[in-house]
Amino acid sequence: MSKKVLITSALPYVNNVPHLGNIVGCVLPADVYSRYCKLNGKDVLYICGTDEYGTCTEVKAREEGLTPRQICDKYYKVHKEIYDWFQIEFDYFGRTSTGLPHEDLDWPHTVISQEIFKKVVDNGYVIEQQVEQLYCVELDSFMADRFVVGTCPKVDCEYEKAKGDQCDKCGALLNAVEIINPVYKLNPDYKLIKKTTTHLYLDLPKLEPRLKEWFESVNSSWAKNAVSITQSWFDEGLRPRCITRDLKWGTPVPDTETFGNKYKDKVMYNWFDAPIGYLSITANYTKEWSNWWKNPEEVELVQTYSKDNIPFHTIIFPATLMATNDNYTLVTKIGSCEYLTYEGGKFSKSENTGVFGDNAVASGISSDVWRYYLMRQRPENKDTDFSWDDLQAKYNGELANNLGNLMYRVHTFTSKKLGGTVPERKSELLDVDNEFIDHVNNLCDNYMNYMDKIELKNGLKTVLSISHASNKYIVDTEHWVHFKTDMDRCHTILHILNHTAVLIARLLEPFMPETSRIINSFIVSDKLYRYEHNKLVINMLTGKSTNKPQILFKKISDEEISELKQKY
Ligand code: ZN
Repeated sequence: MSKKVLITSALPYVNNVPHLGNIVGCVLPADVYSRYCKLNGKDVLYICGTDEYGTCTEVKAREEGLTPRQICDKYYKVHKEIYDWFQIEFDYFGRTSTGLPHEDLDWPHTVISQEIFKKVVDNGYVIEQQVEQLYCVELDSFMADRFVVGTCPKVDCEYEKAKGDQCDKCGALLNAVEIINPVYKLNPDYKLIKKTTTHLYLDLPKLEPRLKEWFESVNSSWAKNAVSITQSWFDEGLRPRCITRDLKWGTPVPDTETFGNKYKDKVMYNWFDAPIGYLSITANYTKEWSNWWKNPEEVELVQTYSKDNIPFHTIIFPATLMATNDNYTLVTKIGSCEYLTYEGGKFSKSENTGVFGDNAVASGISSDVWRYYLMRQRPENKDTDFSWDDLQAKYNGELANNLGNLMYRVHTFTSKKLGGTVPERKSELLDVDNEFIDHVNNLCDNYMNYMDKIELKNGLKTVLSISHASNKYIVDTEHWVHFKTDMDRCHTILHILNHTAVLIARLLEPFMPETSRIINSFIVSDKLYRYEHNKLVINMLTGKSTNKPQILFKKISDEEISELKQKY
């Protein structure tokens, strides 16, 4: 029996509006893959939700004059609405935080995170280390690196606006305590002092041998960048990673035998418990969550995210689960990708560059077309660019001319000239027909191979190739000529073409569900026809009546595209 498929996409951080790069990197490919698996009869669970704890939420709350809870509620809704518009069909879209993290101790995320934390400590995989950190007197809290600005400590640089974790001028990775004259980004008058604190660290060096053995046994089903980045971490040697923070908005560190209640005022570092959110969100969805997460024999775990998330998902999270010595479901397939750029640059909300989820909703371009273009540009092996001119070119060339035109020709001819019924195959198949059917079926095999490997962009391109081959078949066989001279031959050609149309609708469904539905709705009027094969099988539709055809894609004009360019 084939394994059940558990799919997760990176949990989006709750304090902002997702941009197209986030959508193409995480939720959309997981949705396409999930739809593909479901269409092929697999038992699938697709889980996602917002990642809500951490400094960024606390600071955003301060900026907007709200509580962290209010910020999370506000942006959870923003995320959910945007993903709904993009037709992302999660089985469950949850969230990690609870209103009162230090009191609401029954919350699944708290329960599961604390249980894992305790086991990792009990099994001896956590050590203590003292560190110096910047502390803000006015706010009575330690400062996260990213909220500190000051002068770069590198002698040749001394850039005055270096960020706490990195200098944008010389590129050096920094630690906020090294910054000269550090100030709090949101209020330069607040005083920052150095203070010593003790934190808990995950002992990755101790886990390294087990982790490496596991990595070598599973990485053949991972995307290339996931393998190379993970390998580079092993090549450098793993170091202990801090797993606690001096914050209030987070999962409280539980008492343990080893450390007693010494850490009761600290919370888990967000990157430690955020991935545990996959488990706890599943637990919010079903009490049977361990049938998915503690069941590696029957479950295949598939994860999608962007390049920056790789080490958290391939090193730190599996190391955490391994350190419990419980039998957790670890990742088998990874569909990670590189970055999507915007007109050659970065997406940036602060500089108002790029298209964000809410802009896409308001653009007048349909959700299906956004899905199409994003998956067509999915940065699978290298960074790729979003550009309006390219969107227009691909839309007009590939959707309107190739796919739309094919459907229009097949459907209008069937509707107008053949009485609105899929004709019988009345004559023997000729070489040109058999060659076409073989060619399409070879392409279908390629499609399945690509989709199984989460090379979704290639899967989509293969659907276009089938459409292209079908247009060529029309030109080669000239059914409109036979319509006047040899009606049997004309019927045979349209018989084949109608079957090709429903095949294309099926292969396209994971990418463009609404377009697929419209193509499917051409066949029979009482209920939606859904083709059941991943290859071209004829003789199935003979005699089925058809509906009035619809135009699938109206071309985008130069004026429309320049208007959109100016807006964003
Ligand atoms: Zn510098």
